[in-house]
Amino acid sequence: MRLILLGPPGAGKGTQAARLVEKFSIPQLSTGDMLRAAVKAGTPVGLKAKAVMDAGGLVSDEIVVGIISDRIEEADAKQGFILDGFPRTVAQAEALDQLLAQKHMDLDAIVELKVDENALLARIENRARETVAAGGTVRADDNPEAFKVRLDAYRVQTAPVSAYYASKGTLKTVDGMMPIDDVTKALDKVLA
Ligand code: AMP
Repeated sequence: MRLILLGPPGAGKGTQAARLVEKFSIPQLSTGDMLRAAVKAGTPVGLKAKAVMDAGGLVSDEIVVGIISDRIEEADAKQGFILDGFPRTVAQAEALDQLLAQKHMDLDAIVELKVDENALLARIENRARETVAAGGTVRADDNPEAFKVRLDAYRVQTAPVSAYYASKGTLKTVDGMMPIDDVTKALDKVLA
């Protein structure tokens, strides 16, 4: 199963991806997680990406396409993968199409979690609270200022990615405003 999960920040992509990992025994490939790991490790990519990420902007297409191109070749992704947070621009979606064609891979599904934008800030604030309660470190971009930039980036650069797949007839949508378990059930249904 090769799957893309689309949706704005706070839509629940990470939560649902974690459940799909269990169900299909395939890895969740989150460019955000990979970039945060690169920042933490102080790699050249991390050093380049840190300021942009902290401010809520998008890292260059070249960097993230390179990361994904290498990652989907790894052994644990042979049976499939869930892309979470990638592609985030139409240029990334086109690059992904080319990559997959070169590697003779097909996508099985592209699913967008549809959510009411007004609920997103509250979800992000809740995620930050839960992280603190669990003793974790809040993401540097989980604050209202960076979130506004992330939402703008989503509207301008990522919403067209859904339109890109919709125009190819490959986009499925799920209501991401439902309780978490109901979203999981709806995803199971569209992926069946
Ligand atoms: P996320 O964890 O998906 O919310 O991503 C956190 C941050 O990482 C984003 O706000 C961007 O700065 C960066 N990022 C993650 N994925 C991408 C991508 N596909 N293209 C560009 N920037 C990305």
